[in-house]
Amino acid sequence: MAQQEDVFKKLISHCKEYGFVFPSSEIYDGLSAVYDYGQMGVELKNNLKKYWWDSMVLMHENIVGLDSAIFMHPTIWKASGHVDAFNDPLIDNKDSKKRYRADVLIEDQLAKYDDKIDKEIAKAAKRFGEAFDEAQFRATNPRVLENLQKKEALHQRFAEALNRNDLEALRQIILDEEIVCPVSGSKNWTDVRQFNLMFATEMGSTADGALKVYLRPETAQGIFVNYLNVQKTGRMKIPFGIAQIGKAFRNEIVARQFIFRMREFEQMEMQFFVKPGTELEWFAKWKETRLKWHKALGLGDHKYRFHDHDKLAHYANAATDIEFQLPFGFKEVEGIHSRTDFDLSSHEKYSGKSIKYFDPELNESYVPYVIETSIGVDRTFLSILAGTYEEETLAGGESRVLLHLPPALAPIKLAILPLVKKDGLPEKARQIIDELRFDFKCQYDEKDSIGKRYRRQDAIGTPFCATVDHDTLEDNSVTVRDRDSMEQIRVPIEELRSLISDKVDLKQLLRKQA
Ligand code: ATP
Repeated sequence: MAQQEDVFKKLISHCKEYGFVFPSSEIYDGLSAVYDYGQMGVELKNNLKKYWWDSMVLMHENIVGLDSAIFMHPTIWKASGHVDAFNDPLIDNKDSKKRYRADVLIEDQLAKYDDKIDKEIAKAAKRFGEAFDEAQFRATNPRVLENLQKKEALHQRFAEALNRNDLEALRQIILDEEIVCPVSGSKNWTDVRQFNLMFATEMGSTADGALKVYLRPETAQGIFVNYLNVQKTGRMKIPFGIAQIGKAFRNEIVARQFIFRMREFEQMEMQFFVKPGTELEWFAKWKETRLKWHKALGLGDHKYRFHDHDKLAHYANAATDIEFQLPFGFKEVEGIHSRTDFDLSSHEKYSGKSIKYFDPELNESYVPYVIETSIGVDRTFLSILAGTYEEETLAGGESRVLLHLPPALAPIKLAILPLVKKDGLPEKARQIIDELRFDFKCQYDEKDSIGKRYRRQDAIGTPFCATVDHDTLEDNSVTVRDRDSMEQIRVPIEELRSLISDKVDLKQLLRKQA
């Protein structure tokens, strides 16, 4: 674990050093849990958003896009339940004065039981070697069984407390499990209190009675209140979906862990409107579709798992998270929720306007049910970096740091490097860039040795480098070096476009899901 934390720290400094992510307002010592994306980060983030957008809107005839405003009528948040129920249970440690989410402290404790079990298994696997039968060991080893039983008992108690919204019971679990504050090491806890996560601000001047408005904590409500506009003007027939990418804001209680938990972040959400009664079928379908999207990134299938919710949100009748194995454990990157007709019915009630869908096939009107897929851009960005970051030792003892980014997402696709800064090589390199810049993002670099320039490109995940040397002037060919294998091949300049374009195209990722 300590080693993993170390990797995470290195990843954070790598992000800063190479222009992926900077702390916000850094010259004023930063603003807690707010980050800015630098010159490389924004390219990667835009590519990631396009990957998601195309997988929804390009690949599905019955999904269209939307870009709704961040500010919305405040009654929307009353109707959605966010004013009354968008809370997290918080608890303070009296000695360190640090604030925690009570549910997260308990989830960490659950993970500790899993860690203990995994350690027993790893130890036994080493001891028994080839002959080790993991299933049998799990079923019979007393220490494994004891930890499993403790975990299950805790899990059940936790789920019950959450479902009853019983804050005192959550506190009692923390006391009974002897959970200590990671900073002070003490068990001196306050009561658990509810904390609303929405940011509020005022619209209009106070003289005319300013309106209290919220910064949206999710993009989904913008889709709900527009669903009939889109359905009618787009002549959409159920089942259909609306996709949206945009900023969301939450006044998170504990905001550590870099861009995993931010106060301003970005979501990619798709609401899929279906006939009531068919929602669980669609829920299963979207679970599968979304997992494929993640797996196509090639970060390792074993790094993903589903986590079904114990406590369903006020609007849901089924919910699961797609979790990714980050350096600090398996964590949610995407939520898939069967939201029933809760939101639409509620908006109908609060607005007094009918938002029923007329189904021409059934010749009847109804409020559709909704399946939502909701993924965080920033968390996915983090999983991609964590899943592709590698410190590699090369033959000869040298080492390099590289990002094995999927080529379609890499900020720079091709670096063009003149071997020397003279003899017409820079001019030739520029000429190549001028031809290719319409097709994909190229970067020119002439400073330092070729080796150093390769390292810089490896560190930002550039899949290909082309070196222009003296022979280029004669044979009109360049040496193309592959980031991962470091293999070099000689390629005629006129073939560069087709060679690279195909490999860095988003189609490569989209096709894997067909
Ligand atoms: P958590 O339990 O971690 O607070 P959540 O269940 O509240 O997350 P959802 O409301 O399901 O999250 O939001 C959908 C997605 O939005 C999440 O899967 C995550 O990727 C992203 N997201 C939510 N909150 C944040 C945040 N504070 N910072 C970055 N991304 C976030």
